[in-house]
Amino acid sequence: LNRRLAGMGTTIFAEMSALATATGSINLGQGFPDTDGPREIAEAAARAVLEGRGNQYPPGPGIPELRTAVAEHQQRFYGLSYHPDTEVLVTAGATEAIAAALLALLEPGDEVIAFEPFYDSYAACIAMAGATRVPLTLRQPAFRPDLDELRSLITPRTRLLLINTPHNPTGTVLHPDELAAIAALAVEHDLLVITDEVYEHLVFTGGHHPIAALPGMRERTVAISSAGKTFSFTGWKVGWVTAAPELVAAVRTAKQYLTYVSAGPFQYAVAEALRLPASYFEQFRADLRRKRDLLATGLADAGFGVHEPEGTYFITTDITPLGEKDGIEFCRALPERCGVVAIPNQVFYDNTEAGRSLVRFTFCKKDEVLLTAVERLRRL
Ligand code: PMP
Ligand code: GLN
Repeated sequence: LNRRLAGMGTTIFAEMSALATATGSINLGQGFPDTDGPREIAEAAARAVLEGRGNQYPPGPGIPELRTAVAEHQQRFYGLSYHPDTEVLVTAGATEAIAAALLALLEPGDEVIAFEPFYDSYAACIAMAGATRVPLTLRQPAFRPDLDELRSLITPRTRLLLINTPHNPTGTVLHPDELAAIAALAVEHDLLVITDEVYEHLVFTGGHHPIAALPGMRERTVAISSAGKTFSFTGWKVGWVTAAPELVAAVRTAKQYLTYVSAGPFQYAVAEALRLPASYFEQFRADLRRKRDLLATGLADAGFGVHEPEGTYFITTDITPLGEKDGIEFCRALPERCGVVAIPNQVFYDNTEAGRSLVRFTFCKKDEVLLTAVERLRRL
């Protein structure tokens, strides 16, 4: 393993999901639902396979039907208009979009400011691009970005801001005033913004606001999303980028040599999913909000310090009230102690001290699974 990837051996998600399987624990670690998405969308994927649509290499930028559906989705939910041919790129999940965008847009030595805790692939991909990550720590108890601190982190080497709203793992959703301040700094310093919006349809208070909609931002923003979370098919790995033509062209160049194209039949199904009626998106959000409240109450009863998320399907907790100090030790022991798996937030920090006592639980599971997990955690 080269120096750039030193210390990035196995992702925490793989480690903790393997531990869940090995110990037969309830897995509230890795974020994937235990119920698949809509039957009609699964059938659309099956139909595409059986009818021979997408079984051979699809077009590199993505099938036209999906690029059009992505553009229509941006218009329908946010009033943003993107041209399906030049301003939309289909990727192998948001993960590939993140990698391709960073590899295409960074020069070695560039600095990237990213919210800390960061989703683990950000650190790895910034490193693979030979760039340096500069963390802006979201601190307890509110986990909001300090915008004066953001200003102070910008240097002549800063090339881009990597933001994530709703934010994994804290559940922070950037408010319009925060987005406006971030946008103003990006314009003032001529920075690009990559925005990871995979949880765009999981906002419980206030709504999702894409930074690309703000003045001066459309031409400098690479927006990333994915079907995995919104339609509960995380295994399909269909993601997309929307951005100005030059930026999409750059990301497409990198994507060509990472995967060349993304799996064909699922693209037809996701094109249908993006056109589901408003009721689908509302029901999905309402279900997850109820699950959030169920798990938040249970974790509080079990003695955790609970940070209520505004978005995503994760709850960040503080284990200090349980008399615990270290989230990694706690999460490694938890399966043996009570048959539950969680994720230590600490692995998403450079400033490990800021995340030491924080542990993340997902609530995208059946109610009975959440209730059983809570019952077990109460016995700690
Ligand atoms: N970004 C964030 C913030 C995530 O939580 C995830 C997890 N799935 C991804 C990107 C990756 O998405 P995908 O599965 O579509 O690659
Ligand atoms: N995004 C999900 C999470 O944060 C899963 C990611 C993964 O397994 N790489 O848990």
